[in-house]
Amino acid sequence: MSAKLILGTEIREQILEEITQEVAQIKEKHGKVPGLVTILVGANPASMSYVTLKIQTAHRVGFHEVQDSQPETISEADLLALIDKYNKDENINGILVQLPLPKHIDEKKVLNAIDPDKDVDGFHPVNVGRLMIGGSEVKFAPCTPAGIQEMIVRAGVETKGAEVVVVGRSNIVGKPIAVMMVQKGRGANSTVTVVHTGTKDLAAHCKRADILIVAAGVPELVKPEWIKPGACVIDVGVNRVGEKISEKTGKKIAILRGDVDFEKAKEIAGYITPVPGGVGPMTITMLMLNTLRSLKYKLGLM
Ligand code: NAD
Repeated sequence: MSAKLILGTEIREQILEEITQEVAQIKEKHGKVPGLVTILVGANPASMSYVTLKIQTAHRVGFHEVQDSQPETISEADLLALIDKYNKDENINGILVQLPLPKHIDEKKVLNAIDPDKDVDGFHPVNVGRLMIGGSEVKFAPCTPAGIQEMIVRAGVETKGAEVVVVGRSNIVGKPIAVMMVQKGRGANSTVTVVHTGTKDLAAHCKRADILIVAAGVPELVKPEWIKPGACVIDVGVNRVGEKISEKTGKKIAILRGDVDFEKAKEIAGYITPVPGGVGPMTITMLMLNTLRSLKYKLGLM
């Protein structure tokens, strides 16, 4: 058997098209477009390329986008003042501070200074609390878990009553996706187990999973024999295992592997996400959706 591929690259296109249409409709009716600011401190090349991608995507869907680049030497007080400025800016609905920040700045303090109603990353403790309560309390689910849930829904995988096993308990993937899958509602209502470095028998838990979500950051941690035949396997891991020369550009690029042995697992699973091209493209897509939601809340449309 060969599993059906769930491609983030395709789902991203569908969602970005839906967002573009909705932005155009809101603009026509209400004269407003969602505004997203990305704050970049310093010149870390990886951060710069993430921010560029976010800004390009925001531009593509018709948002008002601002890229605010600050020097590495900015003081914590000045960065907090900048956030305060965007908290008060009527044209900004989403504030994104690109991490990591320089060592002299307290990341937690900075993230917690963002107005929870503009926290489109969904990392503010207020939004983490809302996610835990669930239902209409949820304003912004964190982007990677939201992307995972959307992929499962759009692939048509039944979640109600499904045994979901989440490998990993990080604050950005493992814990929030576990909370989301356990709630009542769309793409959820599952029975959830979270496994981690303290778990005694990882394989035994994985083998029970109808939906296996793996976010450990360990290349090919999940073995094919741990996968229940027909299961839906969502591989969040992005691990650099080497370098190769790109056929397209002739430049050196990273060889990426997921947390699942994809080649063998796809012969057993019913659905599977590849790495790259699976969960990866969903994160920025959901950031756009959260920014649109932020404007819709403000306009009383949600
Ligand atoms: P993390 O390091 O913060 O957390 C990893 C978790 O996995 C920990 O809770 C740990 O207990 C668990 N774990 C690690 N090794 C294990 C083992 N041998 N057995 C059982 N559990 C184990 O990582 P993270 O931020 O959650 O990211 C996980 C992976 O997902 C990384 O590869 C990361 O690059 C990737 N990621 C991808 C996206 C995306 O595609 N958009 C977004 C976020 C993270």
